[in-house]
Amino acid sequence: MFGLEGLKGIVNRLITSATIDKKSLEEILKEIRTTLIKADVDLKLVDEILEKIRKRCFEEKIPAGLTLREHALKVIYEELVNLLGGEPSELLGKKKIMFVGLFGSGKTTSVAKIARYFQKKGLKPALICLDYHRPAAPEQLKELAEKINAAFYIDESKNPYEAAKKSLEKFKKYDVLIFDTAGRNALDEELAKELKKLAEIIKPNEVLLTIPAEIGKVAKKQSEEFNKLVGITGIVLTRLDGTAKGGGALSACAATGAKVKFIGTGEKVDDFEVYDPKRFISRLLGLGDLQTLLEKAKEAEIKPEKVEKFVEGKFTLQDFMEQIEAMQKMGPLGKIVQMIPGLGMKLPEDLMEKQEEKMKHYKYIIQSMTKEERENPEIINSSRIKRISRGSGRPEAEVRELLDQYNKMKKLLKSLGGVSGLQRGKFKELAKQFGFKF
Ligand code: GDP
Ligand code: MG
Repeated sequence: MFGLEGLKGIVNRLITSATIDKKSLEEILKEIRTTLIKADVDLKLVDEILEKIRKRCFEEKIPAGLTLREHALKVIYEELVNLLGGEPSELLGKKKIMFVGLFGSGKTTSVAKIARYFQKKGLKPALICLDYHRPAAPEQLKELAEKINAAFYIDESKNPYEAAKKSLEKFKKYDVLIFDTAGRNALDEELAKELKKLAEIIKPNEVLLTIPAEIGKVAKKQSEEFNKLVGITGIVLTRLDGTAKGGGALSACAATGAKVKFIGTGEKVDDFEVYDPKRFISRLLGLGDLQTLLEKAKEAEIKPEKVEKFVEGKFTLQDFMEQIEAMQKMGPLGKIVQMIPGLGMKLPEDLMEKQEEKMKHYKYIIQSMTKEERENPEIINSSRIKRISRGSGRPEAEVRELLDQYNKMKKLLKSLGGVSGLQRGKFKELAKQFGFKF
């Protein structure tokens, strides 16, 4: 989708192939190079990163306790993180945030997304329309604000400067004020003048530039130009979900020093993440991201211990039920499983598709079980199935199906440790080196 997905297969080969020596590693590095170039990463940057990886793998001493394979994996991971941004830089606290960017770059959508993000953190955002250049813009902001139940301001006089002044007064008691400015087709003088004047009135703590990921490595030029004219504090890279040039855009932004702070990964208001290169690359490489998973779990009010239990494959039918319910709150299951270390997309697809409609039925079935049955599903024999079926009003076949799904999932998660040919212990050790907490 955004051009770097191929890295997962390459890294998987690094992890699973029978032996890794200099020659096979060279092959792998060549493939990484091709993938990065295809994703529109600047050629110079690509060659720099490959040079670094080669040097660390072939010229420097491999740290004690690591094989060449493990060391190479770690090096590739670390260098990709550097290429795509290094350390994350989040926004927190009471802020005035001004969004800038060209027409259609995703400003208004991102304004709503970031408001939603603050809402989830328990802060009260207000959305302010400063785009009176495009007639439909105020209505779009209004619709989005209403969708997420956030306060908003649209100025009757259609004057952006008046709107900025009045909203500052009106939303004094709000935690985060988010200003949606007008774009243009290009960063021309008129736009620069307007943004400068608005910035003088607002005195924003953050000026976020939205850049659509499909412009690839051109992102560097665009961010530098905007920075020169209005001074930006960060980038929101939008539409990362729909382009093969996302890798190029990310690396181009990283190269300017203007940090990508958020990424847009879809059209919906929840398709928005803090951009954390480490997590991003871990997920990209199929190493999973327990940390993000735990955070999402917190948002959906699930206890982290439960998620760990789930990830470890130790759970009862009762847990199974609670997990699926809670995960539904967290978002599409497909997105969640990508974050489970080593699991990738291996959950049975039919389970994912069916689960929504089956949910209610499964609930009746589990509710008709005794506590003992829920804790030890293996005791459920055919006479118990009959009883459960009668009690829940669901066919026996469905009771069997639920047990089957539960067993499949449990088995799958148990096998996690052996995933990618690494022993569980080893995997954990390696994961620790990557900064995951187990
Ligand atoms: P603005 O002119 O800068 O305010 O841009 P808009 O917020 O109106 O967005 C332009 C288009 O991009 C709209 O159709 C949005 O739905 C779409 N869009 C914005 N962000 C994303 C994203 O992260 N993913 C996808 N797929 N579409 C997005
Ligand atoms: Mg807009």
